[in-house]
Amino acid sequence: MSQQNEPTDELNEATLLAQRVSTGASTAAAELENYLATIEQSEGEIHAFNTVLADEARTRAADIDQRIAAGESVGPLAGVPVAVKDNLCTTGVDTTCSSKMLEGWKPPYDAAVVESLTAAGAILVGKTNLDEFAMGSSTENSAFGPTRNPADVTRVPGGSSGGSAAAVAANFAPLSLGSDTGGSIRQPASLCGVVGVKPTYGAVSRYGLIAFASSLDQIGPFAHSVTDAALLYDVIAGHDQRDSTSIPTGIPTVSDGLDAGVEGLRVGVVKELSGTTEGFEPEVARQTQAAADALAEAGAKVDEVSIPTVMAGLSAYYILAPAEASSNLARYDGVRYGLRQPGANTAAMMRASRTAGFGSEVKRRIMLGTYALSAGYYDAFYGRAQKVRTLIIEDFERAYQDFDVLLTPTSPCVAFPFDAKTDPLTMYLNDVCTIPSNLAGHPAMSVPFGTGADGLPVGVQVMAPMLGEQTMFRVGAALENAAQTITNGGA
Ligand code: GLN
Repeated sequence: MSQQNEPTDELNEATLLAQRVSTGASTAAAELENYLATIEQSEGEIHAFNTVLADEARTRAADIDQRIAAGESVGPLAGVPVAVKDNLCTTGVDTTCSSKMLEGWKPPYDAAVVESLTAAGAILVGKTNLDEFAMGSSTENSAFGPTRNPADVTRVPGGSSGGSAAAVAANFAPLSLGSDTGGSIRQPASLCGVVGVKPTYGAVSRYGLIAFASSLDQIGPFAHSVTDAALLYDVIAGHDQRDSTSIPTGIPTVSDGLDAGVEGLRVGVVKELSGTTEGFEPEVARQTQAAADALAEAGAKVDEVSIPTVMAGLSAYYILAPAEASSNLARYDGVRYGLRQPGANTAAMMRASRTAGFGSEVKRRIMLGTYALSAGYYDAFYGRAQKVRTLIIEDFERAYQDFDVLLTPTSPCVAFPFDAKTDPLTMYLNDVCTIPSNLAGHPAMSVPFGTGADGLPVGVQVMAPMLGEQTMFRVGAALENAAQTITNGGA
């Protein structure tokens, strides 16, 4: 394999920046100003952020520079600006979930991942826009207006972590964090042309992530390169006893050995999601095939694999995620957090607050979830969806007896125009490739691989079994190399 994943590659922006800052070749303050200038210039058009923390970031950069000048080691993300999805708690800084319900709410504590960023020397530059409470695939459900895709501002950036994907794509920060419940990191990464990773369920602490569907939610990185995503993954992954589903031991580190190549690895192209399925854009299917061919060329054993239950994942998810959401969002009652509307009595106050505070997609999910969990319907909906979830896990187990990783498109389509998918079912279909890994708790990542319709970015998804991140990142790195070689016109 070539040396393209050595940190000399300009895509490895965060890795190189941290190197410059920690060796004194540059300062955190100077590096930060470049990003703040880009934000100043383009944020008005892109709207990646709910909050930009320019002053706080400058103070923090000065502190980091001082510590480095004093000979201190400040960590692997020395001076690296990071944008964080606005459903991650940040002490004293608005954390809104892009909902009127939490507008102006300032958490009294940091999410575990925010603590990890701070301990690693990173600089928080802002809180990024999302679909309200992370429900959506386009960021159009934000109560504060949509984010625009930097690759084409007439199009959505994907969602729900559209702000985090756009922040990296627009060079507002070299790294960002999102959350992924059914694809919310991978799909926007794909639509914006950046790398996005959903870790194994339990590999990254959910402490301080405002819950959507707790059995599916995971936090993960966005970056321009696989190397940079690996750098951030290694900073945020690890056990945390404050998250009861955090995995106690054996969470892999991924930065070392990224360029080990794919010789001999067994890669399964998922037949049902190969892109020849109805509703998949032909260019997306072609790029996925090109990615599979590139891996074969690099020495992997590539074959087709059938995962028959995978298509049922979508239906199961849209029962299970709303069911969990209906329970998690019961806490927004006009008393404990955020918005309160007046009412003649407690019930009227709660009704008025929830009516005014939640947008229509959130209300739809709460109603769907409440219905699915209600007595008399529980077995028919929630119970059956749980059974489908188990069948998908068993199907994956069978597939992983023969394959190390699986390959699919990340999204059936490239970035679509605003208001193109107003019917909820059409929007939900975006998640067909990403949802299965959430249901199984497995890691998956999206790597940019060429372009599709209208020259817009296409992402290819690499899925791996539980805690299979090392192999997954290696395959991601190989795909990135192949994509660069193809773009550069090489063989
Ligand atoms: N688009 C999916 C949904 O609307 C996934 C969202 C997510 O991963 N947070 O539920």
